[in-house]
Amino acid sequence: MSKRMSLSYSFPVFLIVVATATAACLAAAGGGAGRGDGFGVGKGLRFSGSSPFRIALFADLHYGENAWDDWGPKQDVKSDRVLSNILDNETPDFVIYLGDVITANNLPIPNASMYWVQAISPTRIRGIPWATLFGNHDDAQFEWPLEWFSIAGIPEVHCPPETSFAGEKDCSFRGTTRIELMKMEILKNPLSHSQIGPTELWPAVSNYILQISSSKDPESPSVFLYFLDSGGGSYPEVISYAQIKWFQEQSQAINPNSEVPELIFWHIPSHAYKKVAPCRKSSIKRPCVGSINMEEVASQEAEWGIMDALLNRSSVKAVFVGHNHGLDWCCPYKKLWLCFARHSGYGGYGTWPRGSRILEMTEDPFSLNSWISMEDGTKHSYVKLCS
Ligand SMILES: [Zn+2]
Repeated sequence: MSKRMSLSYSFPVFLIVVATATAACLAAAGGGAGRGDGFGVGKGLRFSGSSPFRIALFADLHYGENAWDDWGPKQDVKSDRVLSNILDNETPDFVIYLGDVITANNLPIPNASMYWVQAISPTRIRGIPWATLFGNHDDAQFEWPLEWFSIAGIPEVHCPPETSFAGEKDCSFRGTTRIELMKMEILKNPLSHSQIGPTELWPAVSNYILQISSSKDPESPSVFLYFLDSGGGSYPEVISYAQIKWFQEQSQAINPNSEVPELIFWHIPSHAYKKVAPCRKSSIKRPCVGSINMEEVASQEAEWGIMDALLNRSSVKAVFVGHNHGLDWCCPYKKLWLCFARHSGYGGYGTWPRGSRILEMTEDPFSLNSWISMEDGTKHSYVKLCS
C-alpha cells in the first residue's frame, strides 16, 4: 500500500499464541512422485537432513523512500538494521523478499537497482540464498510531489552516482522496469533464485517455481514454492487469468498427484483474505493467529479464479502476502491458511514495530510452523500451519 494512505496507531499488545491448525494439511505430505523436469523449476534448495528448513519473509521494505531528502536514507539505514538483526537471530536457510522492496514512486533516478542492491545486501553478505517478487511500488511511476510546484520549487535532488544500464548520469525520473530490476538481480547474484517468468505472462514478471529437494535425493522434491506477480505499479493489481492457467498447468505437470506440499507467495492479498479477516481493530481470535489487525484488507482489484485453482489442489497448504503493513495474522480459509507477512522496512506507512514472518518446515513427515520475529529479537504469534 502507499505511504500516502498513512495510518498511525498505538503499538499493539503482542500476543504470543500457539495454535493448532483447524484447516489445511489434508493431503499426505512427502516427496517421491513428481519432478521439476524441464519447466524451469529452480532446484537449488535442499533440506539438510539434520535440521528444519527455515525461511524469513521480508515484506514491504520500501527502500528509497523520499530519496531526495535526509529522512528517506535514514529510514533505509534502519531497515538495514532490521534485516541484519533478523538474519542473525533466525539464521534462515532462505529469504523471500515479498514485494515493495523499493518505493519506486519516490525515486527520481535513472536506475532504482542501487536501492534493490541495498535491500538484498544483508542477505547476500551472509551467504544466504534468496528470491524476490514484485509489489505495487517496485516499478511505480515517479510521483512528483505537489509541493515541488509551490513557491518553494523543486528541492536540490541528490542524484546518485551513475548506476544505469543505459549510462544515464543524471536524475531521469523515468523509473526502472520489473524486467530491468530482475535482470540486474539475477545477473549479478549467484545466490539469487529469482527468475523472470514466462514472457506470455507479461507484464507480470515474478512468476516462477522453486523446489526444495529431499535431503536423500537432490532430484526429488519435498516442497514446491510458487511465486506469482500480483501486479500493481505499472499495471493493475491482479493475478491474471493467464497466470492462473500457467499455475494449473505447471503444478499439474510437476506434482500431478499433489503428493508434494506446495506454498504460495505473492504481494497483494486476494479477496479471500477479506472473507477471513478479523473485524478491523478487533482482537485476533483463534483460529486466526497474529498480533496486529489495524486496517482493512487492501485486496487486488479483481479476481479471476486463483483461489479456486489453489483450493483444487490438496497439496497447497498456505498463501503468504505483504502489502497491508498493519496486518500480520494468519487465518484458515477452507483447507488453506492465508497469512500476512510482517512489515519489515522503515519505509512505507505505519509505525508498528518491524519484523519478519518466519516459516519453518520439516521434511519427513512434512510440517510447517510459523512465527513473527521482531527487530528487537522477540518472537510471537506462533502458529502450526501444517503437521
Ligand atoms: Zn508496502
